[in-house]
Amino acid sequence: MILTSCPITIQVLNNRNNIVLAVIWLRGFANGSISSITFKVKKWKWEIYDGEEVTLDTPNVLFVMSPWGNQLYKFALFMQDWYQKVDMLSSIYDLLRIERTKKGEEWKRLGTREFFGWLRKEYLGYFRNKQKVCDYYRDYITYLNGKYPLCSFFMLDSGGYSFRSERLIGRSNLGTLFSQGVDKVSKYVFEKQCSFKPTAIITLDKPIFRLDLGLSEKRDRYDFSLNSAKKYLEYRKEKEEKGTACPLLFAAVQHYGKSLSECNYGMYEKTVKKYISSLIDWEEKLRIYYSGFSVGSLIPITKTDLIRSIGRSVVEVLRERGRKDVLIHGLGIANERADILLKEGFDLFDTNKPIKLARYKYYYHPARKEFVKIEEISELPCTCPICGNHPISHLKENRKGLKEVSTVLIGLHNYYSQYSVNSL
Ligand SMILES: [Zn+2]
Repeated sequence: MILTSCPITIQVLNNRNNIVLAVIWLRGFANGSISSITFKVKKWKWEIYDGEEVTLDTPNVLFVMSPWGNQLYKFALFMQDWYQKVDMLSSIYDLLRIERTKKGEEWKRLGTREFFGWLRKEYLGYFRNKQKVCDYYRDYITYLNGKYPLCSFFMLDSGGYSFRSERLIGRSNLGTLFSQGVDKVSKYVFEKQCSFKPTAIITLDKPIFRLDLGLSEKRDRYDFSLNSAKKYLEYRKEKEEKGTACPLLFAAVQHYGKSLSECNYGMYEKTVKKYISSLIDWEEKLRIYYSGFSVGSLIPITKTDLIRSIGRSVVEVLRERGRKDVLIHGLGIANERADILLKEGFDLFDTNKPIKLARYKYYYHPARKEFVKIEEISELPCTCPICGNHPISHLKENRKGLKEVSTVLIGLHNYYSQYSVNSL
């Protein structure tokens, strides 16, 4: 995300993490989803994979998309509509499902950044070779004649949220590993995440996905996640000592409390602080650091006061422990709750809502500030990179399978119109 104006810029060089921070004060996201807040705009820069430079501007909302199915091809196809404008998050759970396909193998061979270029060539080749398909796409083909740029920031989640369910674990064959304990399963997932060479990975956690879980189960999930985050730092250290490149590492952070009454918020505050403090002790012991903290288990929390107290506690403990320069990610939330956490000092969020609603052809109407069925409108009331470059017919087309592209186009428009400032 690039913002429209930059009143003040301060450059801060952080030798420890290779991060250059440019701190700029701005007021407000333009379109109202996050509005009238003064927040810091930071420019993060890292070097990974033998000097390859990675940048990320925050505040930012990562576009969550699934590599499962055909969606990825279509993303690759319209890369010039999102390249360097949209940063992404996917789950290792979905990647494991495609691991043994040609797509999965190429992904590992090329690494995430090169892989998108390969995928685009593949898809273009597919419909250039088929006369019938080519007819459908006559007007796209001229549009698509361009170079094959690489993907921008790509974060790979640990899949903790998907692995929470026995049914999903069964499908991914991880059930046995989970039963063998945190060491085995975290190592397995870490290696799998690294094998796709994403920009960043999040440590394997067991989120507290329902607030009414029993206290002992919450504690078990919390302990598992904390131990797993610590193991990941060891694995990263091993890689670095061997001179093997490793993606940026984000520690998944958990918290829990007894109930939702306000007088019990204290337990959430205490557990989240203890968790982060324990990770910082571990960092200092191993002399290696996380690039960020991804605070999980926020999805089931609807009480804004509780969101605020957890967010404030996270920022407080990081400040108390001298980790002011670290990126803070609120996992799985956007909109009002992100707004609260942004005020507290969080940098990064993610959402699958734009693409989820696009599947049902729901288009975000920026003037009406609501989702409408794309069939209901006769012209595009928006100037985002999608609406500015595509006629409405592209967004209304209703083909099947690999030939269908409107979901991805509507999904990207939904993202731009709700979460991005500068691309408008
Ligand atoms: Zn648009």
